[in-house]
Parts: sequence; structure tokens; C-alpha cells
Amino acid sequence: MTGHGFHKKNVAMLIGIGLYGMIINAVPVLANTEVEKYTNTDFAMDTVVSETLYTTGDDLNTTIGEKIRQIETEYLSWTDEDSQIAKLNSSAGKTTEISAELAEYLKDIFQLAKDSAGAFDPTIGKLIRLWDITGENPHVPEQTELDDLLKDVGYQKVSLDGYKVTLEKGTTLDLGATGKGIGCDVVSDFLKTQKDVSGMILNLGGSSVMVYGEKPDGSEWKVAVTDPRDVEGEYLGAITLEGGEFLSTSGDYEKYFIEDGKRYHHILDPKTGYPVWNGLDSVTVVCNSGLLADGLSTACFVLGMEDAQSLLEKYNAEAVFVDEDKNVYLTSGMKERFELMKNTYTVQEVK
Ligand code: ADP
Ligand code: MG
Repeated sequence: MTGHGFHKKNVAMLIGIGLYGMIINAVPVLANTEVEKYTNTDFAMDTVVSETLYTTGDDLNTTIGEKIRQIETEYLSWTDEDSQIAKLNSSAGKTTEISAELAEYLKDIFQLAKDSAGAFDPTIGKLIRLWDITGENPHVPEQTELDDLLKDVGYQKVSLDGYKVTLEKGTTLDLGATGKGIGCDVVSDFLKTQKDVSGMILNLGGSSVMVYGEKPDGSEWKVAVTDPRDVEGEYLGAITLEGGEFLSTSGDYEKYFIEDGKRYHHILDPKTGYPVWNGLDSVTVVCNSGLLADGLSTACFVLGMEDAQSLLEKYNAEAVFVDEDKNVYLTSGMKERFELMKNTYTVQEVK
């Protein structure tokens, strides 16, 4: 045993000397270490996650995928009974203490609900489940069923006091409209702690995108916007983003069923409980927060183009509205960033 230990020590010493030599040799190499590009495809939040990371350090894509899944299981999940949202929902009527992170998210979410006059409302969860649009039995509910759930819908039925949350009995929270955006924010915050990372583009299901830092060749980040009426998912156009910006799209083409020629999709008017039909096919929003880009795209879809303008201004956000007549409306700050890729559409200025 002793002999073995001695042998180990010698080996360790040799490795030590070897490493020392290598470090000296490696210095000039380290000084101009090349930025490597790592790409990966993962699955989280019920969607495909595509990651492109630029770094002089380790490939962090697996860690990043895990972080997004963790947000889902720890905070947002409706089905995982250990998530903070599931716990809040099961203790409606009582006051529950939540984590500092969730309190931050909820603060932004309820402010947006207020600013959009309830067009965006995180208490519509039971309605979405009643329609079961992506489930086994998608169907148009009876009016009595809708009325029964609508009485518990309303962001005013939730009170926030620091880390304490109280839901009225019967009311539930569903962060579906901001989940992917929160995922993007969490990754962005993580990257800020990673000094080796110089850039990243993260795409959650094509509907929420984060760009961070810059590309090694200095070229611009470009994100494609889906043609909401192309069944093959072809692109309508591309938007140029800067590091630190987030993009989100909400549309009636992601999740829907068609019955008697009508498209029943997953963005609901919280006042009626019905899918929103206002002539819009999709809304894409760019701003400097993932949560807000995601929440705003849902809110703007519900509000319609005209009523959405003051909300976008308040949040310093830019947007692309696509309507059923194949018009693409751009806000003023979007004009120089948007590039049309389909000549079946016409670009217009926001009315
Ligand atoms: P996606 O999740 O496909 O990217 P959205 O960000 O627009 O699309 O979110 C849609 C989800 O948001 C729905 O599945 C539902 O859970 C929730 N939702 C639907 N309508 C509203 C609304 N008016 N306010 C808040 N959340 C909503
Ligand atoms: Mg959204």
C-alpha cells in the first residue's frame, strides 16, 4: 500500500511539472484564444430549444437547457405539483409566501395586466384547459361552462404584497403567456456571470428569442419571423436585433383547431373566454426583457393594432403586426430592422 502511495505521489509530481511546462507553453496560445461556436438542440417548456453559443470557454448548452427545464419544474408548471405556481393554485383562498424570483416575475406580470387593461391576464388558465386546444379533446365549450369559469378570471382577484400572494378562492395563475420569455431572461442573467461567453442566440420554439453579446465576426443578429399562414412554416421576414434584446411572437397559427371553418386558437379574450378574432394573424414584439416581449406579444394580439400602440410606447417596444389581408404593419423603430422575405405580403406603416 505504502509503495503504491509513493508511486502515486511521484506520478502527481510528474503531472505537476508537466502541467507547469504546458502552462508556460500555452501562454501565447491563451492570449489569442479563438472564440468557439457551439450549437445544440434541446427540448424544454414543451418546445424545441435551439442554442448557438460563442465562447472561449466550455460548451454551456447542456447547462442552459437544464436551467430552462428547472424554471419550468420549480416555478411555472401546472402539472408538477411541486412547482410554486401549482402550490399557489392549490392554496387559493389563503396567503402563500413565494420566492424572490417568482415575486419579481409576478410584479412585472401584474403591472402588464393592469397596463393592458386586462387584455393580458394571467388568471385565464382554467379557460385554456376547458378549450383543451392542444389536448385530447379540443372542442367549443358550452356557454354555461365558460360563464362558470369566467367568474373566477380577473387579475384583480390576486393580491401581491412583497413575497406574499393571495388568490381569491377559485382563481388560478397560469404563466403560459410569459414562460418562454422568463426562460430567456434566466439564460441572459446566467450568461452575464460567464466571462468566457461573448455571444449567444437562444430560440424557444421559434416564438421567443434572446440574443446576447455579439458574434465573433461582428455581423448582425438576425431572427426570422414565421409566415403565420404558411403550413410549411416558411419565413415572412427577418428582424435585426442587438445583443441584450428579446423577441417574441404570438399568433393564431401555433396551437388551434378548425371547426365549421372557424379557427379556434390559444390566445383568449379574458372578457369573453373565446379566442381573439380581430383580423390579426400574428404580432411580434422586440424589447429589452424576455418576460415583457412575451407578455406584450400576447397583450398586443388581444388588444389589436390600434389599442396596442400606447402599451408598446410605455414599454419602449417595437412591433410587427401581420393581418389576415397580408399586410405587415411596422412601428416606426421597426422600419429599419425589418426585411420582408415574401412578396405575397405588403409592408405598411402602423395606422
Ligand atoms: P406561445 O406560448 O405559443 O409562444 P403566447 O406567448 O401567446 O404563445 O402564449 C399563449 C398562452 O398564453 C396560452 O397557451 C395560454 O396559456 C396563455 N394565454 C392565452 N390568452 C391569454 C391572455 N389573454 N392573457 C394571458 N395569457 C393568455
Ligand atoms: Mg406571449
